Amino acid sequence: MSKPQINHSFRRPASAAEMPLGPCAAAGILVEGNAGWRTVRPVVDHAKCVKCMICWTLCPDGVIDRDISIDMNFCKGCGVCAHECPRKAITMVKEGEDA
Ligand code: SF4
Ligand code: SF4
Repeated sequence: MSKPQINHSFRRPASAAEMPLGPCAAAGILVEGNAGWRTVRPVVDHAKCVKCMICWTLCPDGVIDRDISIDMNFCKGCGVCAHECPRKAITMVKEGEDA
């Protein structure tokens, strides 16, 4: 059995389109809406966003699309995206309140 080899030709993706899907899947894979029990929702400030794709990579439900739009029918309001955003471009806002 041969050992796995290191891929030395790896380079950082130059754009969102080149980001590998990895353990995530494209937004829209969930089959049952789960927004009914969400108490806070993420609001993206696109002026601050630098498209680093960290939120897209880490959203546990895969509900953030490549253009950093969030499918609110499936977002559960966990806040991972807001916590991990290096630019603080995502704010968690109470449901029923304005951003
Ligand atoms: S983590 Fe923040 S800066 Fe990066 S893509 Fe998401 S919203 Fe934009
Ligand atoms: S709050 Fe959680 S489920 Fe909703 S977009 Fe952010 S990381 Fe994904």
